[in-house]
Amino acid sequence: MSRFFSARHASLVPYTPGEQPQIPITAKLNTNESPYPPSEGVARAITGEIGKLQLYNDPECTALRKAAAKYYGVAPDELLAVNGSDDALLFAFIAFGDRDRPMAFPDLTYGFYSVYADFLHIPAHVIPLREDFSIDPEDYMGLGENVVFANPNAPTGRALAPGEIGRIAASNPDRVVIVDEAYVDFGWESCVPLTREYDNLLVVQTFSKSRSMAGARLGFAIGNRELIRDMNTVKYSTDPYNVNRMTQAAGIAAFAENDY
Ligand SMILES: *Cc1c(COP(=O)(O)O)cnc(C)c1O
Repeated sequence: MSRFFSARHASLVPYTPGEQPQIPITAKLNTNESPYPPSEGVARAITGEIGKLQLYNDPECTALRKAAAKYYGVAPDELLAVNGSDDALLFAFIAFGDRDRPMAFPDLTYGFYSVYADFLHIPAHVIPLREDFSIDPEDYMGLGENVVFANPNAPTGRALAPGEIGRIAASNPDRVVIVDEAYVDFGWESCVPLTREYDNLLVVQTFSKSRSMAGARLGFAIGNRELIRDMNTVKYSTDPYNVNRMTQAAGIAAFAENDY
């Protein structure tokens, strides 16, 4: 730490990204990347942007959000495109957490939640998993705190039914319940439809895993338009051009080739 480093961050322990070895590897499991490249349509879409790199990207991601809205079955203002889902999680922690609005999450879960909580001085309420590594939904009922977990959870692979998550949202109506669906495409039911029922439910998805696009950095946050508006306030106060031109085009192509 240099003598210039803000005292506010003095005790910060940063997240350690999974190792990216500089030698060719066929199947890389430590960060759950796909061994397969994205579709040819995605590659073409990226190439098509090269001649336009002198121009700023659309900060609203208009065309991408339109494609995403169609896929997720929500309105374009009920979702936000982000620079990987970590970006959405950061925006949500900034928007909805503070000293008086703790974040509750399980031990174990995705390691970044505790880092963001520390960084932003949001009290973390860590709740142990059950003996069998599952989350007990009863532990989260009526907490009066924000809640965040991955579903299916990481690294346990155990999932809660959307109905149980709906009950958690209903019992914490004055706080936000964030569901990180990084692995949902591999075989679980998404909570996206429930975001229309619960105005405090925010679902985060990523193109890093199931869409083979980890290096492109693309994710989405889906929720009530008021929640999305708050996240946009944070985005436009920090990083309005967070989803670059090539990634926007790649995302549209990936939605168009969903079967791939
Ligand atoms: C990989 C992963 C993320 C981060 O995804 P990016 O979109 O690449 O930022 C978030 N949450 C969980 C549970 C993950 O496994």
